[in-house]
Amino acid sequence: MKTIQMVDLTTQYERIREDMNRAALETLRSGKYINGLPVQQFAEELAAFTGARYIIPCANGTDALQIALMSLDLQPGDEVIVPAFTYIAGAEVIALLQLKPVLIDVDPHTFNLDVNQIEAAISPKTKAIIPVHLFGQTADMEPVLQIARQYGLFVIEDNAQSIGSVYTFSDGTKKQAGTIGNIGTLSFFPTKNLGAYGDGGAMMTDNEQLAKRLKMIASHGQSVKYQHEIVGCNSRLDTLQAAILRVKLPYLQEYIEARRATAARYDTGLETLDWLERSACHPASTHVYNQYTVKVNPLQRNDLQSYLKEKGVPTMIYYPMPLHRQPAFEGRVRLGSDLKITEQLCDSVLSLPMHTELEDSQIEYIIEQIIRYE
Ligand SMILES: *Cc1c(COP(=O)(O)O)cnc(C)c1O
Repeated sequence: MKTIQMVDLTTQYERIREDMNRAALETLRSGKYINGLPVQQFAEELAAFTGARYIIPCANGTDALQIALMSLDLQPGDEVIVPAFTYIAGAEVIALLQLKPVLIDVDPHTFNLDVNQIEAAISPKTKAIIPVHLFGQTADMEPVLQIARQYGLFVIEDNAQSIGSVYTFSDGTKKQAGTIGNIGTLSFFPTKNLGAYGDGGAMMTDNEQLAKRLKMIASHGQSVKYQHEIVGCNSRLDTLQAAILRVKLPYLQEYIEARRATAARYDTGLETLDWLERSACHPASTHVYNQYTVKVNPLQRNDLQSYLKEKGVPTMIYYPMPLHRQPAFEGRVRLGSDLKITEQLCDSVLSLPMHTELEDSQIEYIIEQIIRYE
């Protein structure tokens, strides 16, 4: 059996090596390393895949969140609601822009923001909300949109982890994660479901005005060269990364299916364990399994992780520390709720190996080792 890896990007590369090498070499030979043709082509192809009207590529997923916030004309001290159990990027750029992150708790089973806590966290200064589609499934967006409409909040979806996940509204309408709010953001960090061979990101929106503004901000605040209308930043997707992503995009659905097949095996294999809670999926969302995350007793979690490591099964803890416990945020965030669930999750979650190249024998081995843990 091959060594089990948390993520295996090299085997995935080997399977598409010829097309990938050709695309990369073409870019090297083109001399157009910034804003080359593949950038626009990729944006169009991604728009077709996601159903977003406009895709604005940028340098990474954190920049995408920052530029999205910059486009909203918020004032220093304005508040933006974010979940406390997630990667730091969203809350970080809120603070960076002199805005205030308001942290709310998440659902203990789906790990996505608890929509029942949004209203109580809203103040007259609240201007936006950033639901994060964590680990591969869409947050419960219908109530998020209802509350946003009622209170006049912008909705920016942090869709770094869930590209391709589909959300179904109660009237049957289906939309992809990232195309539901005012702006959606994407990351092409190598370990995301659509990963570049370096950094990359994008913003998605259906609003023409917003699209123009996002594009302008990402390009030093200019839409005509050397005419800078507003203070922006420099955030571009490299031509080389766009060319690489163009090779991978046609495989994205296949990659998602491979992740789902692995998740289904985990689900069945771990079903009988009463001491372990398997990854759960919200009924309104499909799951694209950027992570397969289980929950165990906090007293056992670290021991289970060391035991699995000894058996050759790598695991990761996403995320070990709640955002409100991060030293960087001391005195800089408002707690929108007690954040008890977030604290419990940080002590009880464990993410199992999940990528497109896991072999059946490896998955069976992982399941067997977990079952044997006592
Ligand atoms: C990866 C990630 C980001 C940031 O993406 P980068 O491309 O690394 O800047 C933002 N939010 C979430 C939830 C992520 O997982």
